[in-house]
Amino acid sequence: MYVCVECGEESKKLYSTFSGSGILKIQHCGNCDEVVDKYIEFDVTLLLLDVVLLRVSAFRHILHNRDTGVVLWKLALLCMFSDGYRKWIFRNSTSEDDIVEEKVFHAATQLRLYLLTLVAGLELVMFIGITLVFCFAVIECVNYFHFERYCTRSHCDEARTPKFNFPKLIQALLFGNCGKLLFLPTIVWAQSDRNFYYIILYVVCSNTLAISVTSHLSYTLSLLAVLAALTVVTLLEPRMNHYAEACYEF
Ligand SMILES: [Zn+2]
Repeated sequence: MYVCVECGEESKKLYSTFSGSGILKIQHCGNCDEVVDKYIEFDVTLLLLDVVLLRVSAFRHILHNRDTGVVLWKLALLCMFSDGYRKWIFRNSTSEDDIVEEKVFHAATQLRLYLLTLVAGLELVMFIGITLVFCFAVIECVNYFHFERYCTRSHCDEARTPKFNFPKLIQALLFGNCGKLLFLPTIVWAQSDRNFYYIILYVVCSNTLAISVTSHLSYTLSLLAVLAALTVVTLLEPRMNHYAEACYEF
């Protein structure tokens, strides 16, 4: 089942095909009367631009109407490496001036980089796990007590029923974490603590949006789920980095 990217209502198809002629007719939503998915006609660049701008319609297109296959898992691996490299660069620099582009190539030969990449992967798994548990508990509560104010609204301003779709939520969280890819260009070209905080803020926003689009939870509850998971992971991060260092020393 597809989803209208404008209002979020379900739709059976994105376009119709006239038999024999090969002509396609774009499907319009029966709820909001807009084109169900305008992005099927868009160039990928425009789609990515809307994703970067955190447009809800672009998130709906990717999380509901596009078959992402293994692309998201490959992006997750890149995010792990990007985050691992961020950890490595901060552990191997004494000042901001010490960070130079050549370190990217030097890092690739260092065992410590791969250990920290592994830690980054564990943190991603923990983040996804905690967020899923939080979302499951919250969705059960919202549905049981009928807290309609914590649900997203349809085009007719009716509260949607939140649903816990395990595979979709994992996809949403993998997609929401893709902002971590920005660590790499930030380290190489414009390294500063402030930029990293901006990226973390962006990742929080994209995860919140992805959860809300996928589960029909309000932005408030989605944000709480993300912040809860991020807090636990941040608190455990120094200890996990310490274990990685201990393994390296060993
Ligand atoms: Zn619609």
